[in-house]
Amino acid sequence: QKTFLPPLTAGFVIVGGGIAGVTCVEQLTSQIPSADVALITAGPHIKAVTNYKQVSKTLEEFDVEEKPSSVLEEKFPNLTVIHSAVKSVHTETHSVETTDGRVFGYEKLCICSGGRPKLLTQKNPYVLGIRDTDSAQEFQKRLCKAKRIVIVGNGGIALELVYEVEGCEVIWAVKDKAIGNTFFDAGAAQFLIPSLEADKPEVAAPCKRTRYTTEEPKKHTKKCPGSALGPDWHEGIALRGAQQVRQFVHVCYLYTRRSVCFLGSWPVYIQLTNGKTFGCDFIVSATGVVPNTEPFLHGNNFSVADDGGLQVDDHMMTSEPDVYAAGDVCTACWEHSPLWQQMRLWTQARQMGWYAGRCMAAEALSEPIELDFCFELFSHITKFFNYKVVLLGKFNGQGLGPDQELLLRCTKGQEYVKVMIGGRMVGAVLIGETDLEETFENLILNQMDLTPYGEELLNPNIDIEDYFD
Ligand code: FAD
Repeated sequence: QKTFLPPLTAGFVIVGGGIAGVTCVEQLTSQIPSADVALITAGPHIKAVTNYKQVSKTLEEFDVEEKPSSVLEEKFPNLTVIHSAVKSVHTETHSVETTDGRVFGYEKLCICSGGRPKLLTQKNPYVLGIRDTDSAQEFQKRLCKAKRIVIVGNGGIALELVYEVEGCEVIWAVKDKAIGNTFFDAGAAQFLIPSLEADKPEVAAPCKRTRYTTEEPKKHTKKCPGSALGPDWHEGIALRGAQQVRQFVHVCYLYTRRSVCFLGSWPVYIQLTNGKTFGCDFIVSATGVVPNTEPFLHGNNFSVADDGGLQVDDHMMTSEPDVYAAGDVCTACWEHSPLWQQMRLWTQARQMGWYAGRCMAAEALSEPIELDFCFELFSHITKFFNYKVVLLGKFNGQGLGPDQELLLRCTKGQEYVKVMIGGRMVGAVLIGETDLEETFENLILNQMDLTPYGEELLNPNIDIEDYFD
């Protein structure tokens, strides 16, 4: 039986109850309080941003809570939340069909369906990806019986896992020359490596970054894609294996997987490209995400980027009329500021959802809107191996020419400061409590000529904040 939503005043439909979708709903409803908005989401809960704090011009911190959708509906009386997965979109008739057979018409649609882990092999019971609460719980269940696991990947999730997992041997296969290649260069990796061998602090150092909390465990049984976990997803769940040892991490550099097979006494074996084979209890595939686009593509003309995301322009519009996209599912295809790049991160999901909501409202109200300032400069605060980490601009020299200089200051176990500079500062990696983020952010944003200062810029005896005030 097909039910049609009565014609909506503004007719906004948002797909996905993750950070991007929920922030989009919030912005839309604050811009046009009378707008009728429907949020269609596959997961049982929605993600809400709480304790939002603008740390500096572009750096932001917030907590994320998983909440029942009724919280949103109580806050926004014109919002209807539909718990079902979208099966297909018909852009010509401006309608969306859900797996439970309902059809909803829209005037404007925003797709915020996130991504799912790229798995090394599909349908192998010994290869896990971590994305949502369900998969994190499955990982924990398997880990407590495991003696050895193999982690493949070199991004944020792999970094967190190798540091947090205890009581289990970890083989870490990274395809690069250094760990954490997505975020760091080899120098920063060297700075962090000793933390893997050292004893972890009994009480974790105060953490200033985003925190993820869950409400009571879910009771749903149906398999449906939930929202991505976020920072601190492992807090509150014990990541302990079956062994007494604290931790043993063996890093295999420059190797990727060649095959996954069943050979002998271990449940599964992984062969790396160097020919080495490791048996283990299970393999964690932490090699990035694939945007969740499948239900939307069939029968439509969406332009899809090389990374599989729905291409969006500087108004978060896809190539289909009246269809927007935000968060992990989309690929930013406007001409980027020279200091910004897309990374599928929590903060960008919030910023894109916020901006998409504003763009949809502006279009409906026939108001002009310009690309938001947050897309001027890439900025991210996180925590790796218990160190505060701030990344600014082209922090790893992404796409920069050979005339870039690199200034470095490092105190073992305390701080690592790297700036990319070619007359002007274009990026920075700050590890530890450096207190430099605001000053460096300003220097990057105002593109001041720093040639006269040379290496003095990182002289620890100079109070750089005073210097540039
Ligand atoms: P999601 O949060 O994935 O939400 C997608 C929503 O769409 C979900 O509600 C889902 O149920 C729904 N959906 C999917 N398909 C359909 C469909 N067909 N129909 C209806 N609804 C659908 N980022 C950081 O910045 N810092 C970190 O430290 C960090 N750590 C992470 C750790 C882990 C383990 C993971 C998995 C991710 C981490 N990230 C981190 C990334 C961050 O969580 C994501 O970038 C962000 O959550 C993306 O938000 P989103 O709203 O685009 O997508």
